[in-house]
Amino acid sequence: MCACPLREILAAGMFPPLLPSSPKAVLGIIAHKLLEEATKGMFSDPQQANMRFDSLVAEWDERLGQTSLQRHFVPLNQTCVDFHVFRLRVTKAAKRIISSSFGHIKTEKQHKVELELSSIDGTLHGRIDDVQEINGQLILRDHKSGLLFEDDESGSLQIRHEYVVQMHLYAALYAEQYHKWPDKLVLVALNGEETHIPFTPEECARLRVETSKTLQRVNEDIRRVLAGSAEISILADSKPDICHFCQYRPACPAYFAQRNGNTEAAWPNDICGQLISLTAAGSGMRHLTLDVGGVVIAVRRLSDVIRHPALDCIKVGAIVSGFNLRKNIGTNLFAEGPLTMFYSKDTKWVPDNKWTFAS
Ligand code: SF4
Repeated sequence: MCACPLREILAAGMFPPLLPSSPKAVLGIIAHKLLEEATKGMFSDPQQANMRFDSLVAEWDERLGQTSLQRHFVPLNQTCVDFHVFRLRVTKAAKRIISSSFGHIKTEKQHKVELELSSIDGTLHGRIDDVQEINGQLILRDHKSGLLFEDDESGSLQIRHEYVVQMHLYAALYAEQYHKWPDKLVLVALNGEETHIPFTPEECARLRVETSKTLQRVNEDIRRVLAGSAEISILADSKPDICHFCQYRPACPAYFAQRNGNTEAAWPNDICGQLISLTAAGSGMRHLTLDVGGVVIAVRRLSDVIRHPALDCIKVGAIVSGFNLRKNIGTNLFAEGPLTMFYSKDTKWVPDNKWTFAS
């Protein structure tokens, strides 16, 4: 279930993100694609997995090279920490799937891949990687390229909550569509290890009902916003741990309102203030200082305008926002990180479409 409806609405509406995602997330997409193709039986030889992985990376390098947000991640094999370890793990996982596909014939009835699931009322949709019937046991599997476990509040290791919710919903949608509950829900890690998710049909059905109610509530809120009887912020759920991973922060008034009203919380390292100076620092780098509510904040050794087009031709006094900075603890000094982006209401540059920036 989504944590912030506004973020989900923006993403579903194909609004281009305003902040880069980590190159590891791109590798996750590549891994998923390769494993999907392996599961679909698109390879005749396990050795093809390496070539296909490399061609997917080349496609993504080209795609990233055309974006202002992520072109500095090209080539992925040099900017991604542990790229070669990841490549080895993913291609090994693909080869295992390809090898296991030989020797037994998959029929439509026994084995379905990338199966679309929908609720009868058409409001909920999902796509499960793999549905298999073995010895009368119905198994729903989903491949994951990231970590399957997280610490809960007591510090003990649990299956990631979002994966549990996702698989429970798949089970409910499958039962709704095919009138049969699965016997097992399984997450498959890159090393092939399978983690079984416990479930009961009752809890999955309950979750499906709750999800539909949430969806109805959000749709009603959207209608109110569109009719002008409510502010867009009623759709937002601004919390540090949620907003931290959101790529729409630069344009989200709810985010700025919350963080300005609760400065003690562990918000992302974003700053917004009036430009005092932007000076050359050698090798094409620049130093930037901002007046943030009367406090002077410095960002040292910023990259050039190709990396930060919003800072091109910017004038003293302009309102400037910086996102995903690295903070020197206990100081007012910041530095650029790989996900850092700058925006300004006072320059014309915006990525890919027209946005209004918050502050
Ligand atoms: S910045 Fe926070 S409140 Fe705004 S859309 Fe993103 S997650 Fe939601």
